[in-house]
Amino acid sequence: MADGSKFSAAPQESGEFLASRRADALISVIVPCYNEQEVIFETHRQLTESLERDGLNFEIIYVNDGSRDRTLELLREISERDPRAGFLSLSRNFGHQVAVTAGLDAATGDAVVFIDADLQDPPAVIAQMFQKWREGSDVVYGQRLSREGESPFKLATAKMFYRALNSISDVQIPLDVGDFRLMDREVADMLAGMRERDRFLRGMVAWLGYKQTALPYKRDARFAGETKYPLKRMLALAFNGMMSFSMAPLRFVLGLGMTVVGLSVLGVLYAIVLRLATDAWVSGWTLLFISVMFMGGVQLIVLGAIGEYVGRIYMESKGRPLYGIKERGGPVAKTNRGRA
Ligand code: UDP
Ligand code: MG
Repeated sequence: MADGSKFSAAPQESGEFLASRRADALISVIVPCYNEQEVIFETHRQLTESLERDGLNFEIIYVNDGSRDRTLELLREISERDPRAGFLSLSRNFGHQVAVTAGLDAATGDAVVFIDADLQDPPAVIAQMFQKWREGSDVVYGQRLSREGESPFKLATAKMFYRALNSISDVQIPLDVGDFRLMDREVADMLAGMRERDRFLRGMVAWLGYKQTALPYKRDARFAGETKYPLKRMLALAFNGMMSFSMAPLRFVLGLGMTVVGLSVLGVLYAIVLRLATDAWVSGWTLLFISVMFMGGVQLIVLGAIGEYVGRIYMESKGRPLYGIKERGGPVAKTNRGRA
């Protein structure tokens, strides 16, 4: 073999893309829907138009997450009209993260995309993600450049949350990243294999590693309808992220205990010195009362923190399925896809 051949400047027609990641690879687009009757038709129209325009080979899996409006009826209609669209209807509302997981379980594509039903994530970005995937990225996550129609409060709290989480957690979760992303089949299989109940998907994908690439995009305002993530649910998601990705609260509690013990040792020394070196005693039951109250409070906090983890162990140990499926339609109905 000539030495130069290896390094010769051969034309790299296929060098840009991995050979195994073909232009006609199947993309499974997963769309969780909870009370989205106002947007769902428009979402389907824009999604298919955009994917067709970009010449992609795709299937769409809508997951009805126990909607109480006409979403399911509309999804039935969509999947009857469009052979590329199917749906799963969960047995009740399980929440966004589980709904997405149900779709993931049913997806067979070479690449899997998560996208919200409210058109906040522009469908045109999927083609760019696909491009990056073909170039060798295993996960391409959308990173929001700007977020239209979100309150300054939500923006500020979201930012604070990710800063705080990253400073205490064992995996680094990228800033300003939601669940809008494209994953390779291998990553999708790994993610589907992680059956923990408290699902914080963006953290779980970050934990997986592989080659992850950010794709900056502009996040639009919700097309219609209102957010299904009111403050309470946002806080719950944030709390979940903390507890599932970090032992920091336990460590904090340990540090707190040690600090309190240290302080009381100082107090004892002070009392002894006072007794031996002067004529005075440490006096008064107020101090006693306050310290007992303080210790009681500290112990309750510590118990609460430990209890939170124990509770999570308890819930996991039941090994319940993550969700139930009441009805399926379209491509996902034909195969026996979707494990609960
Ligand atoms: N969603 C869901 N189950 C829920 C709540 C929300 O499947 O219990 C879906 C919802 O239909 C949407 C996506 O999750 O497609 C994101 O929800 P939303 O747009 O309300 O959240 P936001 O963008 O305001 O954070
Ligand atoms: Mg939204």
